[in-house]
Amino acid sequence: MPSEKKQFIIQKLYDRFEGQEDIDYKVQQTENFMAAVSDLIQVCGDNPEREGLQETPYRVLKSFLEYTEGYKEDPRIHLQKVFDVQHKGLIMVKNIEFHSMCEHHFAPFFGEAHVAYIPGEKITGLSKIARTVEGYAKRFQVQERLTNQIVGAIDEMLNPEGVMVVIEAKHMCMCGRGVRKSDAMTTTTATSGVFADHSDKRMEFLSLLGK
Ligand SMILES: [Zn+2]
Repeated sequence: MPSEKKQFIIQKLYDRFEGQEDIDYKVQQTENFMAAVSDLIQVCGDNPEREGLQETPYRVLKSFLEYTEGYKEDPRIHLQKVFDVQHKGLIMVKNIEFHSMCEHHFAPFFGEAHVAYIPGEKITGLSKIARTVEGYAKRFQVQERLTNQIVGAIDEMLNPEGVMVVIEAKHMCMCGRGVRKSDAMTTTTATSGVFADHSDKRMEFLSLLGK
């Protein structure tokens, strides 16, 4: 690997694992990983030395570091800054685009998250909700856990009356392989507090969503 590329990867690892003792070991692991990608190319029947594939192990590594950027911090930190407010109605942020990685197949899944909460005494900035979604999406994930983690984080950090999250996503592991259903959308929901207890609150969410 050319030295500037190696330097780029090492810098990424230091950004992510700052202060941890085993960074040198992680650098060694990236070498092993790239060798494994090269082997994978051969297992699939192609030549890793072919021009178009020569730098593919590096590109795959770089992509994976991007897909999993959420691991560098606890997404709840985005919800630390809160404001006191007298607002007892529903607050919704819809159509939050996200890209995540299916942990079963290492294939992308992507779509939109719709998040609503009814505050207790605190609200957060609207963009912080989107950052929280991003922080949990950029990991090895399943859509069900992603949905619940967003509810859990808002519940814990804002102590609201209730939270509801709906995620609609397309999974590449269902499109290009396996059952090959390219139009299939997966919808997951998670609720807490008043959204879990009262169906009229869930209906209010869905009507605001236009469903
Ligand atoms: Zn999958």
